Amino acid sequence: MDLYEHQARDLFAEYGIAVPEAETVEFAREAALAAERLGGRVVVKAQVKTGGRGKAGGVKLAADPAAAELTARQILGMDIKGHTVAKVMLAQPVDIETEFYVSYVLDRAAGTFLAIASAEGGMDIEEVAATRPEAVARIHIDPAEGVTAAKAVEIAVAAGLPSETAPVLESLWQVLVREDALLVEVNPLVRTTDGRILALDGKVTLDDNARFRQSRWGDDQEDPGADPLEAAAAAKGLNYVKLDGEVGIIGNGAGLVMSTLDVVAGCGARPANFLDIGGGASAQVMADGLSVILSDPDVKSVFVNVFGGITACDAVAEGIVQALESVRLTKPLVVRLDGNSAARGRAILDDRAHPLVEQATTMDGAARQAAVLANAG
Ligand code: ADP
Ligand code: MG
Repeated sequence: MDLYEHQARDLFAEYGIAVPEAETVEFAREAALAAERLGGRVVVKAQVKTGGRGKAGGVKLAADPAAAELTARQILGMDIKGHTVAKVMLAQPVDIETEFYVSYVLDRAAGTFLAIASAEGGMDIEEVAATRPEAVARIHIDPAEGVTAAKAVEIAVAAGLPSETAPVLESLWQVLVREDALLVEVNPLVRTTDGRILALDGKVTLDDNARFRQSRWGDDQEDPGADPLEAAAAAKGLNYVKLDGEVGIIGNGAGLVMSTLDVVAGCGARPANFLDIGGGASAQVMADGLSVILSDPDVKSVFVNVFGGITACDAVAEGIVQALESVRLTKPLVVRLDGNSAARGRAILDDRAHPLVEQATTMDGAARQAAVLANAG
C-alpha cells in the first residue's frame, strides 16, 4: 500500500526528520483557516498516490488565506493521471537553496536494499538517471547492518549531498525498517537558504504482507486506482489483475494461472486478465470471477483451467454450474478439468449442456480453442 504524502510527512516527523508545518483538508472552505494557522502564505498540494503533481498543476503557492481557499478549490476534484484529488495538504513554504533526491528501495534482483541518492533532486529522477547516470549514486545496504552513521556518510559522499543530510539518511532507514516499508522516497530533500535540511515530499510504500502488525493503517483498502474492474474484483476479494488481451482466464493456483497466460499467448491470443480462484473454488468465487471477467468489454472468450489437487474437479464443476445460474453467460467458455475427480467433473458439465460451454481435456487444446474463439469473436 502506498501512503499519501501527508501520511508520509507525519511518519517522517515522528522519526525526527524535519518537515514543513502542514495541515490536510477535504474542503476548500477549511483551507483559509488552516492557512491562517500556518502563517498565511502556504503551498497547496494535491494528495494523490502518484508523482509529478507539481508538473500537473497540483502543487501551487498561495500568498494568503483567501488565495489558499481559492487554490484549494481549484486543486480539489482535479484529475491527476487518473487519480481524483479528494484532499489537499497546506504546507508552510520554505526558501529552497538546493533540492536533493534520496530513497531506499527493495532490490529484489540483488536480494537486498538499495539506497539511491542524487544532488540533483526535485525533478524526475528517472530523467536524471537516464541522461546523467553519474549524478545518481546507487549503494547496496546490508539489511542486517542497516544504515549506520558510517553508511549514511558513505551514501551522502557518493551522491554529493552535504554532510548534514547524514542523520536524515539514518532516520529514513528507521522508517523503512520499523514501518515495514518496501520503498521510502524523499524528493525533494532540501537545504534551505538558512541551512536547514527538510523533507518537502515523501513517498512510502508499505509491505502489504506486514499489514497484520501495522495496525495504525486500519483496514484502509488500497486505492483501487484507475481500473474499475480491478476495483470490483478487489471488493469481492478476488486475486485479479487486468491485462490488455481478449481471453479471460480463471485458474486455481498462481503458478497454473501464470502458465495459462503463457500458453494462451503461445496460441496467438492475448490474456485479458490474471485471476486465481485459489483452492476450494466455491460456486460463489466462480460466479464472482465469471461476472468480473464477463463485464470486461475486451473479453471475447473465457478459459477456465483447473487442475484438481486437494480441490476436487466435481466440486469445481458444481461451482461452474451454479455460477451459470446466477451469471448470464454472454461469451464462450472453454473448460479444462484435470486431476482429482476430473471424470466426474466433466460429466457434470456435460449434463448441464450449456450451449456456450465446451470442454477440452488438455491445457494446450483448451488454450488453442479459447484463442480460436477469441480471434473469431
Ligand atoms: P511532486 O513530486 O508530486 O511534483 P512535490 O511535493 O515534490 O510534488 O512538489 C513539487 C515541487 O514543489 C518541489 O520540488 C519543490 O520545489 C516545491 N515544493 C513542494 N513543497 C514545498 C514547500 N513546502 N515549500 C517550498 N517549495 C515546495
Ligand atoms: Mg516530489
